[in-house]
Amino acid sequence: MKKAVIIGGGISGLATAWLLRDKACKAGVELELTLLEKEPRAGGKILSIKEEGFLCEWGPNGFLDSKPQTLDLCGEIGVKDSLHRSNDNARRRFIYSGGELHRLPENGPSFLKSRLISWPGKLRLALEPTPFISPAPHGVDETLADFGRRRLGKEALDKLIAPMVSGIFAGDPETMSLVSCFPRIAELEREYGGLVRAMILLAKQKKKDIADGKVVSSAAGPGGVLTSFRDGIQFLTDALSASLGTVITPDSHVVAVEKSHGAPYRVRCEDGRDVEADIVIVASPAFAAAGMLDNLDPAMTSVLRQIPYASMTVVCFGYERERVSHPLDGFGYLIPKKEGRSILGTLWDSSMFENRAPEGKVLLRSMMGGACFPEYVRLSDDEVRTRVMHDLKDVMGITAEPSFVRIFRHEQAIPQYVVGHSTRLSALDERLQAHPGLILTGNSYRGIGLNDCVAAAQRASDEARGLI
Ligand SMILES: Cc1cc2nc3c(=O)[nH]c(=O)nc-3n(C[C@H](O)[C@H](O)[C@H](O)COP(=O)(O)OP(=O)(O)OC[C@H]3O[C@@H](n4cnc5c(N)ncnc54)[C@H](O)[C@@H]3O)c2cc1C
Repeated sequence: MKKAVIIGGGISGLATAWLLRDKACKAGVELELTLLEKEPRAGGKILSIKEEGFLCEWGPNGFLDSKPQTLDLCGEIGVKDSLHRSNDNARRRFIYSGGELHRLPENGPSFLKSRLISWPGKLRLALEPTPFISPAPHGVDETLADFGRRRLGKEALDKLIAPMVSGIFAGDPETMSLVSCFPRIAELEREYGGLVRAMILLAKQKKKDIADGKVVSSAAGPGGVLTSFRDGIQFLTDALSASLGTVITPDSHVVAVEKSHGAPYRVRCEDGRDVEADIVIVASPAFAAAGMLDNLDPAMTSVLRQIPYASMTVVCFGYERERVSHPLDGFGYLIPKKEGRSILGTLWDSSMFENRAPEGKVLLRSMMGGACFPEYVRLSDDEVRTRVMHDLKDVMGITAEPSFVRIFRHEQAIPQYVVGHSTRLSALDERLQAHPGLILTGNSYRGIGLNDCVAAAQRASDEARGLI
């Protein structure tokens, strides 16, 4: 019987384990499966904390239902009925600029009316579909900032692209790679010669497909609906953990993956335990993978160490509803860096999901730090609280003290797909050729969203299934 070891029990490792076991089972193939997780609990960045009636997400607060991966997994593990979709508020997103909150325009007329982008900025944006815009430089791994300036102009970069990059990656557009962060956008530009042209042609095609009965019209916007569970997103990793049962060995800090005499690999834990395996799937962050693969392949680990991480501080403030005059009728807002604020933005969690705060109270979750402000993760609790209160006062007019405060720090929160990332991935693929049975998965490589992690788990489990 073949033995497979998965290292790391975040959503990536848990989904890989579940899918691999399922595939082996369906094929009638026997497999000894072990998941080694460093911490006492599985879930990784996913943790839903319930205190004093508030439900605070330590990391992610959901996934978008516009992609099928996580939804399909929920269906397979039998938790689809427990899904809790965010309400219509979640479609209203705001950007803070020039001292006020602007609703992010969703269509042409609302864009023209919006005061978020100045008239010169709008005119510059209007050039996007014209031949005045230089095409994508051939063979260059362009930064998101260079792409934004070239295609949409500096104002759109500052007020639209940069906040989006900080909202998704906590990243700096001056260093992040367009093709690695948003491959679809790079592809649309290449295929259609521009983003507006692509949108028009794709919308026409979709209309035709609906008329021909090829696709069903969907009520969700292009970004999809933010989806979680009533008890928080941890419900998903708890369900996976419960289903995997004794496959998971918590408190197992892997320190090395080595070649073995018995089986191809020996996985060594800090406490001296050894596990032999034919297949090793490393689902930990790249920096942790580097630590455990050092003896096996130093060339591979030097590439893994080149994937940087941004830190992030998540700050949950609970208030009595009557102390907050703002209508909180939306998803929340992002703040462009040039506004000079401490926070990257604030999510109005209890507006999107009603059960996130007790009756008569609201929960706001602000983010600080990211690649542009790496030092913020070391600020004291008092300093964090003061800075967040200051920004909430200026942005939303909240002068009250929060009655509930929780501060979560992620030292290495989110991998940064900076320029050169795709070359690094090719180098890793090449090194992996020398180690049959060794597979890398997780959010460090080809997407950081929960849907991306589950998609990567699908690929990793398919590859492993091919080896048993
Ligand atoms: C604050 C925050 C908010 C986010 N919001 C969203 C969101 O709303 N929607 C969304 O889709 N995505 C969001 N993301 C991104 C998403 O949460 C992550 O990309 C995803 O959870 C990563 O899962 P993973 O399993 O790849 O990695 P992780 O969750 O980091 O799991 C890796 C696991 O490996 C274990 N490990 C590490 N080293 C070892 C070792 N040596 N031995 C054994 N085990 C080890 C760790 O303990 C951990 O459990 C957010 C991320 C953060 C930080």
